[in-house]
Amino acid sequence: MRIKKVIIYQVNIPLKFPFKIALGTTTVAENMFVKIETDQGIYGWGEGSPYSPVVGETQKSCITVARDIAKFLLGKDPLNIKQIVTSLERIFPFNPTTRSAFDMALYDILAKVADLPLYRLLGGQERELFTDYTIGLETPEEMAEKAEWAVSEGFSIIKIKLGTNIDVDMQRIRSVYNVTRDGILLRIDANQGWEKAEAVKFLKAVENMPIQFCEQPVPARDLAGMRYVRSKVLIPLMADEALFNTRDALTLFFNEICDYFNIKLAKTGGFTEAIKLVSLAETLNVPCMIGCMNETRLGLTAAAHLAMAFPFIRFIDLDSAFMHSTDPILGGIMYVKGRMLVPDNPGLGVDVDPEFVDKLEQVEVKEV
Ligand code: MG
Repeated sequence: MRIKKVIIYQVNIPLKFPFKIALGTTTVAENMFVKIETDQGIYGWGEGSPYSPVVGETQKSCITVARDIAKFLLGKDPLNIKQIVTSLERIFPFNPTTRSAFDMALYDILAKVADLPLYRLLGGQERELFTDYTIGLETPEEMAEKAEWAVSEGFSIIKIKLGTNIDVDMQRIRSVYNVTRDGILLRIDANQGWEKAEAVKFLKAVENMPIQFCEQPVPARDLAGMRYVRSKVLIPLMADEALFNTRDALTLFFNEICDYFNIKLAKTGGFTEAIKLVSLAETLNVPCMIGCMNETRLGLTAAAHLAMAFPFIRFIDLDSAFMHSTDPILGGIMYVKGRMLVPDNPGLGVDVDPEFVDKLEQVEVKEV
């Protein structure tokens, strides 16, 4: 089997409302889809959702690098994933989101060839996956309203974005807690927004609330600060922006920086490294979450396959598509009251609406 064509799509999906976090505000999901076609009629889909404050990639840079990757792939056997991914890591070490779109499409092809849903190919079996619902930075009242809505929709875990002034953050969490008291778990994410003393003060003040963990309280580079916060508070700390791959995981673990890891395909560069990362985490006994950037249900479905295949992934945060004003994905994961149902078709079990795809800016790279 050989790769004969790659199509790169520029995907812009306006959000229903501006999504604000400590690192900035997003109004449009600016993503990239890739479709890898083989000479045997089988094709694979992948998505990259570049969040530049974290990965340093943009939609433009993704598409530029993707052209080079596409040329590199032409004529190659798509099932030689290990070899291809190792080459891409060497040639494009700082483009994990771009690489992840291709890695994802190759795994889609592999599982289609095997005639299995990807999670089964990876040795997994069906299990219940419950995602949280994420609420961006808004006024305490607006965040409480969104939390009430999410609870009424059946979500039992609410993730709230914080990381600004800790007095305002305190009002935010109190007002959300007020409307979510019974049986609802909270997760908080400061997206690097606090200084270590503020983080300690805040996290100590909310120890009585049902908070599962706090993501990235201090800047990703401030490992000593995160370690300091961890030594002072009871709420477990999760590394997100500080953790891309297995190398980071070892640094974080052996320096006792965090309790949990947040794995995202956009940071690992796809399944190949994500599988290594979750396997390492299991060996180190560091519980993991699978998270997202701003993917459509294409990228979210891929992430859900990983979660299904690796029960060591204890926490699920795969909800970005709820903010999107349109959903161009056919098949893929479905949501029922916060529970995610993963498709049982071969591969990722997703397709993209051809009518949607036809209208997109696209680059075709094929054998001449
Ligand atoms: Mg985070």
